[in-house]
Amino acid sequence: MTENPSDDRTPGRPAPENGEPPSAPGPNTLSVHGGDDRARAHQAIPMPIIQTATYAFADTADLVHFMQRKTWGDGILGREEYGRYGNPTVQAVERKVTALEGAGDCVLFSSGMAAITSLLLASLPTGAHIVMTDDCYRRTRQFCLTFLKRLGIDTTIVSTGDYAALEDAIQPKRTRFIVSESPTNPYLRCVDLERIVEIARRRRVQTIIDSTFGTPINQQPLHYGVDYVVHSATKYLGGHHDLLAGVVAGRKDRIAALRDARGVLGGIVDPQNAYLLERGLKTLGLRVTQQNASGLAVAQFLEGHPAIERVWYPGLPSHPDHDIARRQMAGFGGVVSFEVRGNLEDTSRFIDALDIPYIAPSLGGVDSLIEQPALMSYFEKTSEERLALGIRDNLVRFAIGVEDTADLIADLAQALRVVTP
Ligand SMILES: *Cc1c(COP(=O)(O)O)cnc(C)c1O
Repeated sequence: MTENPSDDRTPGRPAPENGEPPSAPGPNTLSVHGGDDRARAHQAIPMPIIQTATYAFADTADLVHFMQRKTWGDGILGREEYGRYGNPTVQAVERKVTALEGAGDCVLFSSGMAAITSLLLASLPTGAHIVMTDDCYRRTRQFCLTFLKRLGIDTTIVSTGDYAALEDAIQPKRTRFIVSESPTNPYLRCVDLERIVEIARRRRVQTIIDSTFGTPINQQPLHYGVDYVVHSATKYLGGHHDLLAGVVAGRKDRIAALRDARGVLGGIVDPQNAYLLERGLKTLGLRVTQQNASGLAVAQFLEGHPAIERVWYPGLPSHPDHDIARRQMAGFGGVVSFEVRGNLEDTSRFIDALDIPYIAPSLGGVDSLIEQPALMSYFEKTSEERLALGIRDNLVRFAIGVEDTADLIADLAQALRVVTP
């Protein structure tokens, strides 16, 4: 029923007929059809939810046959064994993300953090070292600095965009990974993927890019030679604020090893969530195109507004990484960060005056969300401590959904009247 998992063709891309090379499908075609299995059960168009924890064998001979093939490792099993090792609904998502990222394979986890922590735990030996850029997801940093530290794995954090410091931090024979995000949260810093891969290859270390803010529609880090791409699928890939999931994409053999590790670490996603994720992915191209357009329009509107002190959006020439973003991204995404002219309370009054966005953490879904990082992720810190981390009290992160651009701008305009002197 499932396609041959050892087949190295990019899923969703038809095999060449009459000798002509296949043309690469566009992002919307890949969102809808990437990884399609046209022989799926019951001729259903969506991949059905295969809600089971285990799978039966017809008789002992069937079991022995399966075990032999598994042991010999010819990769063609054609069926599942136990829910922690695989599920057809989960595999449908994995095939689609593989197609979207142009990867060899991809493995799905129960959350973005399960994806990141499983990848690092499965790959790093005791005593290893990783180099990580700052301005990164808080929990990733926490995992490295506390959990990995306990295993004797050290992390050096370097300033995002300082490539000399990044290279200096690499310890010969000890450093295994450069871990970075692009674009970052909340300042949408973009890492020069070509440059980071060049450094990594020369110094014989591997690269991990958390591409959650990038989406496979806007950038495909694997094409630059990045070793692993990670997403919190909770954000753009799922796109509806209704599920948690994470993915790691990369080379086929490495992802096979990581899938084995998932069977041990246990961070699997359940079939219901996988179904919702596959459904969400079908509109990824459409959603991100709309979010890119609104992101740029909102950023331009805010930059020209007297009540706004500063806007952070990689699509604006004023952003420090605008040139990098223009080179390696097809669009600049739906997150716009900005500083309101005023203090913590003024900024809160502006947020409370908005009608459309919900006040909530997260991003990447159809509903716009807004937050003041000082009161959300950094609440327990003082203004001074936050400032030391680069988070100002007047900073706002606006995660744009798929509402009409004009309505979002009109809403911002009316709410900004509250703080305009
Ligand atoms: C949300 C997020 C994560 C964590 O993902 P979860 O699905 O919430 O576990 C990791 N990295 C980035 C950049 C994120 O935005």
